[in-house]
Amino acid sequence: MAKNVPSLVGERFGRWTVLDQAEKDKSGETQYLCKCDCGNEKIVRRTSLTTGNSKSCGCLSRDVAVKSNTKHGDTDKRLYRIWAGIIQRCCNNRSRYEWEKYGGRGICVYDEWKQYEVFRDWSLKNGYNDNLSIDRIDPDGNYCPENCRWATSYQQANNKRTSKFITFNGKTATVKEFADEYGIAYSCLYARLRNGWSVENALLTPAKQIKKMTNAQKIRAMSDEELAEFLAEVEYRRSGFGGGAVWGNEQSAFEWLKQPAE
Ligand SMILES: [Zn+2]
Repeated sequence: MAKNVPSLVGERFGRWTVLDQAEKDKSGETQYLCKCDCGNEKIVRRTSLTTGNSKSCGCLSRDVAVKSNTKHGDTDKRLYRIWAGIIQRCCNNRSRYEWEKYGGRGICVYDEWKQYEVFRDWSLKNGYNDNLSIDRIDPDGNYCPENCRWATSYQQANNKRTSKFITFNGKTATVKEFADEYGIAYSCLYARLRNGWSVENALLTPAKQIKKMTNAQKIRAMSDEELAEFLAEVEYRRSGFGGGAVWGNEQSAFEWLKQPAE
């Protein structure tokens, strides 16, 4: 189906300048060699340009994310990351992290907690410290003040209705027991396993030293996939959690990204 589409060579889309026609992609779609204002060149699909899905080599998103992220004083904090994780697990059906165990089986987040500040205030009033994890008292219940407490990982592990058993080197025990035996933080081991690591790697890989990085450095260090997820989260938060309308409507994110980075 030969469609007569006008050439985009010479036009600008966001930070892209279209330099030349490139080979079609596998599905036969027109692609162009584009140059980003920052100097990077890349082949970009025509529709990515015309729909606004691609506005730069990635540097624009990074710039905007850095700008937005620095408005919020808490994004570096553990409590903020915990909150973001809850929102991801329960409210983002594209989340890689255990959606099917949380949001996918109806576990919700108390509406007011969808604002980070409300969650933070509740946490601080209810004994939050950096050694505690959020524990849902009823594992089938929601993330809400009545069903949550800040607990040690030991308390939390013991509260699991069904402790998760793993087997390694012929021994079967709970994740908690293996964590203690191998001198690895329970939360770290648990996170590795749920992210699909093999038991062997999860137990034997030394825990990474967490480097002190600025927000800007963290964002620059992200893979494209991580960046996309991060941006989605930023956008989700920025949107004021508009009743789910934001998901599936990426246009609002792109509108936002159009705003020039300072
Ligand atoms: Zn660029």
